[in-house]
Amino acid sequence: MSYQANPSGAPGPSHLGTGDPTPSTVESKPASTMGAPGLDSETWERSTLNRTLSTIQSIALLLLTLLLVPPAHAQRFTVLLDAAHGGDDSGALLPKENSSPAKEKDATLALSVRLRSLLTARGLTVVTTRESDTAVDAQQRAEIANRAHAQACLLIHASSTGTGIHLFFSALSPAQPGLLLPWNTAQAASVQRSIALAGILNTSLHHAGIKVTLGQASVNPIDSLNCPAVAVEVAPEPQPDGRSLTPQDTAYQTRIAEAIAAALLEWRSTAPEKARQP
Ligand SMILES: [Zn+2]
Repeated sequence: MSYQANPSGAPGPSHLGTGDPTPSTVESKPASTMGAPGLDSETWERSTLNRTLSTIQSIALLLLTLLLVPPAHAQRFTVLLDAAHGGDDSGALLPKENSSPAKEKDATLALSVRLRSLLTARGLTVVTTRESDTAVDAQQRAEIANRAHAQACLLIHASSTGTGIHLFFSALSPAQPGLLLPWNTAQAASVQRSIALAGILNTSLHHAGIKVTLGQASVNPIDSLNCPAVAVEVAPEPQPDGRSLTPQDTAYQTRIAEAIAAALLEWRSTAPEKARQP
């Protein structure tokens, strides 16, 4: 190891930047310490080594911090709730006993609000495409969803026909995750995870005593979403007394919301550790 002074003078920040513990760091002995009274070469070597070690330590700490602190959106487990229809678009008309039919847009918003409060109470981050009776087009819904970097996207619909809950995932053929896909087929990279999410929702709703039908359908804007996405359509639920619970029925919606919340908590437990943070 040579102790010759670096002809360029004192060591600059570039040495700290590289953290290179090789002789080049030692060689850049500050001119001011050269021949300083009372500072023998052994002491100088020790202090240089100490500085080098502390530099390495700082860099290691910085690298560790960078590794442990992923981008903000990757830290949280986020659920996107899309209450379909709204504003001028009322959606389907849902028959109501002894009164005029309810509007699908109101039933979807009510379920979205119910779900949001259940999920946030359980520590999940929730992003919604609408919070009131406003018109949001498919493109805007997709933009909100894709910006949310959600681990689950649920498109909420309601229907006057069929029974129980209809779960739909995209009809696109699965594509390799990470591939650059056109905007309107972004979901292809997530189809496999969407099917897995639909499976967890199916089991949870089934446990809540709700009949579930699973199917493939490109419900707008599901094909443009880059998250695991499932459309949840609430249909009437026949009762033993021959009557039917309607999609806007409060008790029915509460049962559905609780089953969906339980499913999403289970889905979170399957997510990579980094994404399980609330
Ligand atoms: Zn609808």
